Parts: sequence; structure tokens; C-alpha cells
Amino acid sequence: MTTENIPGRANDDLADAARRRFVSSLAAAAAVPGLILQTVAEAARPADQPVTDKVRWGLLVDTENCSDGCDACVTACDKEHNLEGFGRPTTDAQWIRTLTAKDKRTGRVVTLPMMCQHCEHPPCVDVCPTGASFRRADGIVLVDKHICIGCRYCMMACPYKARSFVHETIHDQKTYAPRGKGTVESCTMCVHRVDRGDNTTACAEACDRAGHQAILFGDLYDPDSEISRRMRERDVTQIRADLRLNTGVRYQGI
Ligand code: SF4
Ligand code: SF4
Repeated sequence: MTTENIPGRANDDLADAARRRFVSSLAAAAAVPGLILQTVAEAARPADQPVTDKVRWGLLVDTENCSDGCDACVTACDKEHNLEGFGRPTTDAQWIRTLTAKDKRTGRVVTLPMMCQHCEHPPCVDVCPTGASFRRADGIVLVDKHICIGCRYCMMACPYKARSFVHETIHDQKTYAPRGKGTVESCTMCVHRVDRGDNTTACAEACDRAGHQAILFGDLYDPDSEISRRMRERDVTQIRADLRLNTGVRYQGI
């Protein structure tokens, strides 16, 4: 595996062949039917200040702390955004899922959470015909449900299969996370928390509570942030770094 220790910046030159092979096999494994699908912080933006490109919010996942069989992050995300299930796991909305993937070359198995990677160059935004899919100045990628026409181009364009289409009428919505039948949605990096000045996400908080500390939220641009400090300490990987999307979600231990 290789290093990538420049937080928040495109650094594809550091992605070597070994990592690409492993990550490619990881992505391929995630697409195979039958694959086992099985916190912390710095000061966030004060709520009375506008979104700025002076920060780039991101998540760092330490797969060595991610516990096989644990779904605390998934459960917390579902609860936070009221992602109710309709008994149709292949189509029910899911903003975060846990993957267990095996490197075919080495036999090594890793468990990791997969959500929208909040790409700096998001294909989902490029293909959206209405502008509903957009990236904020602070790096968070969102869908404007009022503009989304449900064409699902973004779902096809996303290399991480991170987006869900809402097939059902939604009840009991959270006011901070509006959802709508016939629209597309994905992880918002708990933007409602960010915008009120919180310094963690529901998944990272739950992971902490479960005692694993596998997910860390923070500002990738701030060299003094905890997330930046940890990214300097150990090798960091972007899933499918070969696509040069400069993801806001980074991984360690793979
Ligand atoms: S992971 Fe997918 S949905 Fe998220 S920003 Fe990248 S392309 Fe868009
Ligand atoms: S489904 Fe909505 S967000 Fe996705 S490409 Fe179509 S209009 Fe844009």
C-alpha cells in the first residue's frame, strides 16, 4: 500500500500500482452479487457564517479499527436521517453500507464503511441535467430535492454506487434532511450538523460510542486538525484513486 499524506489535495502521483490493484479488486468485489454486505474533531463552521472554500470537510476511516459485523455507523445514519426500510434491501435507500472485501492476491480481508466519497470532481454533478446534484464550497456534495427529476443519471455515473433512489412515499421526515419519492439521495456528511457548528457526524459519533474510533470527521485543509494530523502519521488511500476524483473520504489500513 502507498502513502498519500497531503490532506485534501489531488496527489495521484503517490498512488502506486499495488494500491491501484488492491483498490480495483476492492471495487470489483463490491460489485459482485453475493458479496458480504455486511469520532473527534475540530471546531466546525459557526452557524452564522457562510459556507467557505477555506475548509474542506472530510472523513478518515481507519479500517484497522473497523470491526467485522459491527453496523453502528449504518444504524446511526439510518436513525439520524430516518431512512426507514421497506423490506426491499436491494432498493431501500442506504447512505452508508459496510463492505467486507478480500484482496485476491494476498487473501487479506478488510471491513470498511462505504458512503458518498464527496469527490472534488464529482461525476454525479457533471452528468446532472438540472443542477440538482451540486458540490458546496466546503466540499460536501448534495442533491437539491426540489430540482431533482429522478432521472438517475447520477446513480449511473457514481463509481461508488453511493446514491439511492427513493421508490416509496416517505413518512416522518426529519426537517433537516428532506427526502422525496422519485428523487435521488446520498450521504450528506451530516450537513445539518456541520451547518449548526457541530464537529462530528452521526456515523463517527456512533463508531466512537461503540468504542472503535474508526471514523474521524474534520477539515482536510487545516494542517492542525486531528484528521490532518492522523493523515500525516500513516498511509492514506482514496478508493479508486485512479479516477482522480480527489475524494473527501479517505481510508487507512488498506
Ligand atoms: S461518491 Fe458518487 S455521489 Fe458522492 S460525490 Fe462522488 S460521484 Fe457523487
Ligand atoms: S436523479 Fe436528480 S440529482 Fe441525479 S442526475 Fe437526475 S436530476 Fe440530477
